[in-house]
Amino acid sequence: EVALWWIRRDLRLHDAPALHAALRAAAAVVPVFILDPTLTRAPGATIRRRFLIGGLRALDAALHARGGCLVVREGSPAEVLEALMAETGASAIFAERDLTPYARRRDAFVARSLPLRLVGHPTIHPPESLVRADGGAYRVFGAFRRVWEALPLPAPLPPPERSLATPTGLFSLLHVEGWETRMIAQEEEFPPGEAEALRRLRAFTEGPEAPIYRYARERDRLDREGTARLSPYFRFGMLSPRTAAAAAIAAMANAPDAEGQRSAQAWLRELIWRDFFYVLFAHEPALRRRSLFPFGERIPWRSDPEGFAAWAEGRTGYPLVDAGMRQLQATGWMPNRVRMVAAAFLAKHLLIDWRWGERWFMTHLLDGDPAVNGGNWQWAAGVGVDTAPYVRIFQPAAQSRRSDPHGAYIRRWVPELADVPDEYVHAPWEMPPEIQRAAGCRVGVDYPAPWVPERAAAQARVIFREARRR
Ligand code: FAD
Repeated sequence: EVALWWIRRDLRLHDAPALHAALRAAAAVVPVFILDPTLTRAPGATIRRRFLIGGLRALDAALHARGGCLVVREGSPAEVLEALMAETGASAIFAERDLTPYARRRDAFVARSLPLRLVGHPTIHPPESLVRADGGAYRVFGAFRRVWEALPLPAPLPPPERSLATPTGLFSLLHVEGWETRMIAQEEEFPPGEAEALRRLRAFTEGPEAPIYRYARERDRLDREGTARLSPYFRFGMLSPRTAAAAAIAAMANAPDAEGQRSAQAWLRELIWRDFFYVLFAHEPALRRRSLFPFGERIPWRSDPEGFAAWAEGRTGYPLVDAGMRQLQATGWMPNRVRMVAAAFLAKHLLIDWRWGERWFMTHLLDGDPAVNGGNWQWAAGVGVDTAPYVRIFQPAAQSRRSDPHGAYIRRWVPELADVPDEYVHAPWEMPPEIQRAAGCRVGVDYPAPWVPERAAAQARVIFREARRR
């Protein structure tokens, strides 16, 4: 008896329910990953594809140690699976359930003609247990979190003990020399693969000095690395969120003091946010296209391609926004605090449709995840899930004074400001001419003058309030 393990967003051996189910059902398991052109040719998939390829190689190596190998093929999933079933004599396909609208359409289509069995889920708790009594999704995080926390934490599954006994001689793109040559891996900052993901998780959560105990204090500091830097691994399932939640809870239990315990709890809360957006997206497939709050559709967004280009390319004249946007383009990464500020800046200061920004982030983020990105954009633009009764405005200069007091992060990504004194690096337009000359940074010449004045956000506040009232 042979079964296919169809890997999609679970590139790992630890806590892999679909792999477990396949091993229970069959004597031999064929792990297969399909490069689905609908996904890989989507705009902006390039940066994530590099990371993905590295992850496939790492998984293949891990499988070899267990009598398996990874079959990678390209094509429409139904066709590839059908051919592979015929080749191997497999009688069932096991896959972890995915919740995105595209994944659900794809899986329904495959299941029409093939024996596809969906098991598990990409969230910590089963999504069905995280909905309101009427079956709808929560839109208020606090209520969601209370339900989430009342559920017993599922224990992660161990890596398989048994050999996969994968038949040999199956064609895999991994055998073809140079097929991925155009894809230079992001090896330095984010080495792909499960082993690296687990190493990072352990480094972040284990021992009395673990960074998780400083997370609450340092997460927003841009001059330190206060966060786990795990999101690309969650994005591709190189790390199970249940394994991460178990590590957070263990860290809470072992915390050296009350502050450490609260800090570990704050980190767990971020994992709960991830579940929240996954469940929300499963219920609101238009999350990326339509504002959850109806008033969001009444906001008179400005059609402003030039303003958008200034934002996207990091030349708004607001150092924190520019640093983040340049970092995003150069590396595919941006710290959470800067994502919030940059996203809110587009929607409030520039009054440009949040959907433009959402797409730009999806194009460039290494961890670009439709549910998490879409949900956070709605939050940052103030058109969904944010329950604050007022219109939230982030002033970039005030934000960076707090998160990057000496401008180390800003100077790294905006070298024009390298020699500007600390007190002006957050708001260079305030710099007197003689200091501009001394710092080699003339505002409007060497570094842009502000694209819009700071008070633009106050005008947005009025527009948002009016849209709400109507
Ligand atoms: P940590 O702070 O160590 O948090 C641990 C994990 O918790 C993260 O890896 C992530 O899985 C989860 N998490 C943290 N913050 C959030 C959040 N706000 N919402 C949901 N889950 C969270 N994250 C993505 O993974 N993909 C995206 O496409 C994405 N787009 C975003 C867009 C905007 C406008 C904003 C404001 C945030 C976005 N985030 C996104 C959330 C957050 O910025 C990243 O998850 C975080 O910066 C990843 O760094 P880390 O792994 O060091 O996180």
